[in-house]
Amino acid sequence: MADYVIAPPAIAAVPVRGGGSFPVRRIFCVGRNYAEHAREMGHDPDREAPFYFMKPADSMILDGGDMPYPPMTKDLHHEMELVVAVGAGGIDIAESDALKHVWGYCAGLDMTRRDLQGEAKKAGRPWDMGKGFDQSAPMGELMPAGSFDPSKGKIELRVNGQVRQSSDLAKLIWSVPEVIANLSRLVRLEAGDLIMTGTPEGVAAVVRGDVLEGMIEGVGTVRTRIV
Ligand code: MN
Repeated sequence: MADYVIAPPAIAAVPVRGGGSFPVRRIFCVGRNYAEHAREMGHDPDREAPFYFMKPADSMILDGGDMPYPPMTKDLHHEMELVVAVGAGGIDIAESDALKHVWGYCAGLDMTRRDLQGEAKKAGRPWDMGKGFDQSAPMGELMPAGSFDPSKGKIELRVNGQVRQSSDLAKLIWSVPEVIANLSRLVRLEAGDLIMTGTPEGVAAVVRGDVLEGMIEGVGTVRTRIV
């Protein structure tokens, strides 16, 4: 037992369907990975390599828990995303081997303080305070990968029962194997890493009282209420 001078933080973990929980090390997020979302944010999707930002592991909201409306924003947006859980680490992972490194998948929300992100973009500053704030990542139950094929499947988000985002995983600009291969050239991926793969078009603001219900065909659901 190490001689810690303060109590060590709890290990963040996502509940697994069927029992157990998946300990989370880091949360990587891909920016602008659906063409229509890149366009709605004012970018040309054809000219960009994948790029990444991060959220803290302990920013997750689990088990359908409520999300407190965060401080310092007037423009909290939803981003519905497929989340990949890395079960076996590696560096320079080949695209053809990439899915062997996946332990499972879940539905997640990359909640964003869009006004703070916008100010950061304009000033050439980091996105962390727009993206990686406390309780910014509601996550659904993790589904073991099994034979799930992440190259297609409906992805949808409803707010108060109304469809806000609706697309298909087939429209990812960088596929799950391509993202894993690319990211593993930048950092050594480790077991316990999550990768949020980007959001389709239709991002918009939410307010207190809104109920967010996301679904990915073949994966599962994510739910939270803004309080
Ligand atoms: Mn996102």
